[in-house]
Amino acid sequence: MIKEFLTALFFPKFCLNCKKPKGYICQQCFESIIQVKQQRCFFCKQNSFLGLTCFKCQRPYRPRLVFSLFKYNNLTSKVVKEIKFRSAYSVLLEFLNLTKLYYSKELEVFIKLLPKNTAAQPMPLHPQRLKERGFNQSELIYDNLVKPYNIDKINGLIRVKYSKPQSYMNTKSQRYHNVKDAFKPTTKKLPDNILLIDDILTSGHTMLSSCKTLIKNKVKNVYFFSLIGK
Ligand SMILES: [Zn+2]
Ligand SMILES: [Zn+2]
Repeated sequence: MIKEFLTALFFPKFCLNCKKPKGYICQQCFESIIQVKQQRCFFCKQNSFLGLTCFKCQRPYRPRLVFSLFKYNNLTSKVVKEIKFRSAYSVLLEFLNLTKLYYSKELEVFIKLLPKNTAAQPMPLHPQRLKERGFNQSELIYDNLVKPYNIDKINGLIRVKYSKPQSYMNTKSQRYHNVKDAFKPTTKKLPDNILLIDDILTSGHTMLSSCKTLIKNKVKNVYFFSLIGK
């Protein structure tokens, strides 16, 4: 109680967007966040049901589906910056609580489409990065948005390369090399169906690199969920 009071006193909560003193994300601004209404094939951008990779774009190391809940805009980009550069655990938690409240139907439709025995793999952070940040944002997304649907979590993947955030990379080639061979499996017995979870999807190089590692290690189907997409 005292700790909460002191925190509120010294770090008053202002909306990241409109600066009103109503939490980190006020309801009005949250409602202005643009939901991805029409999911598309990630690779050719054609409309596709729940982001399924279309027939033409299917390749051996690609995910079967890429689903994002929100578009990257002014407010969502601020949320991501808070998480990545200020380790703002409570900002993300507030954002996820609002997401649960407003978008549980959309999430349910998506999750019900997955095969019954799908296991969730939150995108791992390099141990050094985890130490710096104090939490893995993808784990928090799993706990709040995916776990309630009885999807089990695995720790089947580790990050072996300490890469800079992709937003620091200027060219496509830099982004590719930054996360190339960044992941390794932790076990030889990975489940057949895996749902990879990440906070934000931009160029897709992290997604493709992790997906490739899983499929090379005998995972049959990889599905990808990012809270925020392009
Ligand atoms: Zn606001
Ligand atoms: Zn396509």
